[in-house]
Amino acid sequence: MQRSKLFTKTSKTTSADEVAKNAQLLARAGFIHKEMAGVYAYLPLGLRVLEKIKTIVREEMNAIGGQEVALTALQPRELFDKTNRWDDSVVDNWFKTKLKNDTELGLGLTHEEPITNILLEHVSSYKDLPISVYQIQNKFRNELRAKSGLLRGREFVMKDMYSFARTQAEHDEIYEQIAAAYHKVYQRLGIGDITFRTKADGGYFTDKNSDEYQTLSAAGEDTIYLDPAKKLAINKEIYTDENLAKLGLNKSDLVEQKSSEVGNIFPLESKYPDALDLYYTDETGQKQHIIMGCYGIGISRLMGVLAEVFADDQGLVWPTAVAPFQVYLIGIGDQGEAEAAELYTKFVQAGIEVLWDDRDSKTARPGEKLADADLMGIPYRIVVSDKTLEQGSIEVKPRTGEPKLVKIESDPKNLQELLT
Ligand code: ATP
Ligand code: MG
Repeated sequence: MQRSKLFTKTSKTTSADEVAKNAQLLARAGFIHKEMAGVYAYLPLGLRVLEKIKTIVREEMNAIGGQEVALTALQPRELFDKTNRWDDSVVDNWFKTKLKNDTELGLGLTHEEPITNILLEHVSSYKDLPISVYQIQNKFRNELRAKSGLLRGREFVMKDMYSFARTQAEHDEIYEQIAAAYHKVYQRLGIGDITFRTKADGGYFTDKNSDEYQTLSAAGEDTIYLDPAKKLAINKEIYTDENLAKLGLNKSDLVEQKSSEVGNIFPLESKYPDALDLYYTDETGQKQHIIMGCYGIGISRLMGVLAEVFADDQGLVWPTAVAPFQVYLIGIGDQGEAEAAELYTKFVQAGIEVLWDDRDSKTARPGEKLADADLMGIPYRIVVSDKTLEQGSIEVKPRTGEPKLVKIESDPKNLQELLT
């Protein structure tokens, strides 16, 4: 893409009402627009990052047999009466509204009931199970505080998956498969080493623990106790001697850390299927309970966490897997600009995502272009100038590394190698 055609601008200043580092940087770099507290629009660069995160999550969910759907944001009250969740005293962060005829509706904040209800039309026999269904969708929650930028939205993007199994053993196996898939997701996003499976409260419906995935970050709203050797943590919410013993954790091995919950997986037993009258008949014709699980990943929160944990004084630092572009290309001087134009075409032909800062030097001076490359967090900055060309070279600088002069290559394979 040519920078001259990108409608977003960068800014040196942050708006006074934005306190979270992730949102400050993302807004300054033109990735997002704050509509109101906890509600953000994604602009071209930000959308590219968000979509790349979605793609990674989608690929890993598909790899374990997840079937993608798109459930509705408008939800009827009746479904939630059946599970006793409609009342504000049970779920207090719901945006609710009414039809003209006074029928009550909720704006989707989670989808256990709707998906279970849909399966009534499709599942009746042991042959129909197990099933894992997921979606990637905007969720709406009337959160009390929304000061953490993308880490806590009132409208935010979540992947939610629901599994339905015939037996507890079958459920447990699926649950661990999904745990393994989550591990791959965080690994691919470049936060595998700072994201830990964390034992947490199982919620209203089970005595079992749930598992959270917590990424270490000073900006996180959670506190966990981490055993670095076992790579296992326990959430402060359930940090008791009894739970430590149950989990085989020793107090002396644990370090207290601030963290952000980037995903969670919950065993739900048969509470929802039972309440919505979803059962199956086994091989002998007996009616049986269905064992359910739910599995969330905070897609937009992850974007905020990646911004938050990798950023430096110059700006954002994206892992290659989610960067909006791999290369930020700058030509300096007449010859440098001409050569950059040619290089741009070669990159495009080689399938390398490149943002070419082709703004003329009166619109943006070289120093501003260099600063923008850093602020936007593009993994590689390539500068072609009269000086580098004297040596038949271009300057390649990894976002957080040292620049080096590299001979100009025209072979696409070699171009790819420039970036490793
Ligand atoms: P939290 O304790 O942070 O409020 P939660 O327990 O409400 O999270 P779930 O309802 O299980 O979370 O949602 C699944 C995932 O969605 C969470 O692990 C988190 O990554 C993300 N998430 C939850 N609430 C928000 C929010 N308000 N803004 C952005 N992401 C969120
Ligand atoms: Mg919550």
